Amino acid sequence: MATMATMATTAQGEIPVIILREGTRETKGKTAQRNNITAVKLVGNIMKSSLGPRGMDKMLVDTLGDVTITNDGATILKEMDIQHPAAKMMVEVAKSVDNEVGDGTTSAVILTAALIEKAEDLLNKDVHPMLIVEGYDLASEKALELLTGIGIKVDPTDKDVLASIAKTSMESKLVSEDSPLLAKISAEAILQVAEKSDETYKVDMDNIKVEKKAGGSISDTRLINGIVIDKEIVHGGMPKYVRKANIALLNAALEIEKTEISAEIRISDPEQMKSFLDEENRMMKAMVDKISETGANVVICQKGIDDVVQHYLAKAGILAVRRVKESDMVKLAKATKGRVVTNIEDLTKEDLGTADLVEERKVETDKWIFIEGCRDPKAMTILIRGGSQRVVDEAERSMHDALMVAKDVIERPVIVAGGGAPEAYTAWKLREWANTLSGREQLAVFAFADALETIPVTLATNAGMDPIDTLIEIRSKQSQGNKWAGVDVFGMKIADIYRKGILEPLVVKELIIKSATEVAIMILRIDDVIAASRPKEGSRSREPPME
Ligand code: ADP
Ligand code: MG
Repeated sequence: MATMATMATTAQGEIPVIILREGTRETKGKTAQRNNITAVKLVGNIMKSSLGPRGMDKMLVDTLGDVTITNDGATILKEMDIQHPAAKMMVEVAKSVDNEVGDGTTSAVILTAALIEKAEDLLNKDVHPMLIVEGYDLASEKALELLTGIGIKVDPTDKDVLASIAKTSMESKLVSEDSPLLAKISAEAILQVAEKSDETYKVDMDNIKVEKKAGGSISDTRLINGIVIDKEIVHGGMPKYVRKANIALLNAALEIEKTEISAEIRISDPEQMKSFLDEENRMMKAMVDKISETGANVVICQKGIDDVVQHYLAKAGILAVRRVKESDMVKLAKATKGRVVTNIEDLTKEDLGTADLVEERKVETDKWIFIEGCRDPKAMTILIRGGSQRVVDEAERSMHDALMVAKDVIERPVIVAGGGAPEAYTAWKLREWANTLSGREQLAVFAFADALETIPVTLATNAGMDPIDTLIEIRSKQSQGNKWAGVDVFGMKIADIYRKGILEPLVVKELIIKSATEVAIMILRIDDVIAASRPKEGSRSREPPME
């Protein structure tokens, strides 16, 4: 590759002007564009086969030989360790969609690739990239408007709707067989922790703790009305369970504080020694008395608990746990309605949280503390079980999607049906609208519509259906008035997807279009790729290669 920009000559044509570091490589114009297009299309092609319930999973092996089996778009892209700069932008799309709405990552990547592929056709016909960019911009705005037009308002607290939404997000996953149970769990959890302000709901995902443990089967997965912590009871003499628990949540060490200054204490006779130790003992016993007086029968402590204190606590019949993570303390406070107290002197009865049962239980080889049966808890735990580590890992990822889509709908209660129906509908209406535009813009809008249809086409292809027939039939059914006609991948036919209960949040569909368009535009605008030289062999480098 020439380094034309790096080395221009002065007006006299004598002294070369060097503006870039030696070894920098530059790809310009069509070559740069084509490189990026190829890379993006490749990533799209890899992801296509995993879209939808009939999509395949990917097995990813990292440099250490660790295996991940997943269908989750964001995870696939993350584990692939993509190097090409344009392809990396696709990873970013997936990540941002995943963070914001939790589902639709595969679709976003496929749509980006499709937009780029259709743009390539136009570039081949000598349409200027900026015209395509403008057309895509227009088309995306119109598409969003059309989507909003068909969105169906729902009652945000309708558990069945939330469960259907959650179930759809899991259809394509390893856990699909158990999706009714997992969907019900996610809907219940989201409804329970949602906070209402005015007429809208907000969900802080931190209030749902997802714990996993290989063993048992996915159907053993449970929603716990409280919090599970990966800790043991500190002292063997303490009760293994406490019913009607009054829980002191302490962020203070139950120990005698070591002084900052080192002091020397001279003890000359055994009596003195004894009284010194007695004094320490007395102080520690006083701590326990103080706790006990409030009526607490469980102590959950963020800091350490001295052996002597443990002894007195055990004698008082109090169950205690120490060195609990701060994040767990926050959740415990929300679940038990207690208050985390930083000074034992301040502890009162009002600060105690309550739970029907606090118990240490064996989960496979570990001992965990279950704080459950909390009344109206604002933080909960989902305990995921499954046959093997890989199964629980994938179940956890699927649970993330399920919780996120339920959250999406409770926060913005508008839904659409899936199965490629909304994409096909939007494509159809976009084409109609394109006819009102000038010739040049039309081309890009048509390309945009074609790209949208990649979603139903890919769903159909993955289910073994004919792509052309699929599109023709969806179009004909939709133009007869059924806007939810889409791909029924299990029935292998075109059906009313809304009636099938395959529902998705509108925000997911919106974000897929928004982010895919954004990245496609960003890639189309690039006509110059300047890459720093790669460090010499041997030194580890994360620099992107150019081709
Ligand atoms: P993404 O990462 O984009 O969410 P998925 O593999 O989860 O990818 O597939 C999502 C697509 O599958 C959506 O378009 C959704 O409507 C569709 N889908 C899910 N379940 C069904 C179903 N039972 N029938 C038809 N389409 C479905
Ligand atoms: Mg999904």
